[in-house]
Amino acid sequence: MGYPMSDEERAIQARARELMDGEFIPHEVEAEMNQGELPEDVVERQHKAAAQAGFHALNMPRELGGAGFTTFQQVLVQEQVGRVTNGLGWIIDTPAAWFPAVATADQIERYVKPTIRGERHECYAITEENAGSDVAAIQATARRDGDDYVLNGVKWHVTSYNVADYVFFQARLTDGPNAGTAALFIVDMDTPGIRVVRTPRYSHTMRFHHAEMEFRDVRVPATNLVGSEGDGMAYAYAWFRYERLMVGARCCGAAERLIDEATAFARARVQFGRPIYDNQAIQFLLADSLTELWAARLMTYETARGIDRGEDLKVQHGHCSMVKLYASEMANRVADRAVQIFGGRGYMRENVAERFFRELRVERIWEGTSEIQRAILADQLPKRGAAALAG
Ligand SMILES: Cc1cc2nc3c(=O)[nH]c(=O)nc-3n(C[C@H](O)[C@H](O)[C@H](O)COP(=O)(O)OP(=O)(O)OC[C@H]3O[C@@H](n4cnc5c(N)ncnc54)[C@H](O)[C@@H]3O)c2cc1C
Repeated sequence: MGYPMSDEERAIQARARELMDGEFIPHEVEAEMNQGELPEDVVERQHKAAAQAGFHALNMPRELGGAGFTTFQQVLVQEQVGRVTNGLGWIIDTPAAWFPAVATADQIERYVKPTIRGERHECYAITEENAGSDVAAIQATARRDGDDYVLNGVKWHVTSYNVADYVFFQARLTDGPNAGTAALFIVDMDTPGIRVVRTPRYSHTMRFHHAEMEFRDVRVPATNLVGSEGDGMAYAYAWFRYERLMVGARCCGAAERLIDEATAFARARVQFGRPIYDNQAIQFLLADSLTELWAARLMTYETARGIDRGEDLKVQHGHCSMVKLYASEMANRVADRAVQIFGGRGYMRENVAERFFRELRVERIWEGTSEIQRAILADQLPKRGAAALAG
């Protein structure tokens, strides 16, 4: 029984779960103790296992070599990815799904297809010191110079730059008919003028690092402009919509793992002559967690189904915000309760609850903070009404 889905969807879910349980979860503690790194042969084996399971580039069109999964099928896989700590499941690549539709034939050959084949990897440089939630406040510049653009700016938190060989760089045009508008560029990481300023440490322990990067007089051919001048923000919004839903899916997976592990521990751990599970105080922590997981999961699944049905784009945007807001806050509450159930063990890095307690915190910050999701919803409510958004 359970949530209604086709045999194919259930098989994808089972395959993803088996992959995470067999190839990834057993390596979490080793990764935690080694700055997120695993031996090369293990990473290679994980890559192969993910590809064999049919999970490479699952959000990319089949005609370009991707797996062509529906949004719902992607959610099922990402949910299982979320059950694993230390970002180990990130091996399942999800390149920029909005890109093929706007890429030129040349960009398809040089970037999209090799990325789908797993030969190239991208990262995103949008955020700046003074432009975080307010993405439109970016100060990075792009100046047209003959057949090139010249890019300048300093970007923060550039995730996965250490495994990427090209970067999407968002800038403001300084001149020409579209001066002042935003544009997005593809920049090869070995282009002269790119410098890693620093690689700060973050709360989580994973092999994908987040750098502060300087772009000084970086020259890219005009053919590396994505879409048209002035389009920049549209792509950021498409990416946000996709990622917010997938954040929700991963948070559901994390919450399920935490509930399973904390329940097993509570039933086995004996204090005062009986399992701690026998105390209502512990039972209620788990009952609340289970209830909130079910609510978050239904929202996530229904939003994915709505996208696959071709729901109105604005409504999709609102639903993805609700999923991101609710599921990320839910998972943080569940992690906090799980740490409490594990007691002192829950404060040790070898414990799954301790790792999730740190790792899940960022889900309330990146891809738009909880406050920004609330602001989006508060903006939509008077325009569309409660029935359109939650009917
Ligand atoms: C680990 C990590 C990885 C990241 N990876 C990338 C990446 O790969 N590429 C990239 O470009 N960016 C990346 N980011 C940046 C991320 O998207 C931003 O951190 C996020 O959008 C918030 O911006 P900020 O940190 O500047 O916070 P700020 O915008 O300064 O916000 C600070 C606080 O003020 C609140 N706030 C701001 N405005 C309002 C408002 N109008 N109403 C109410 N409250 C408000 C916020 O909710 C927050 O609580 C990453 C961040 C992290 C932590």
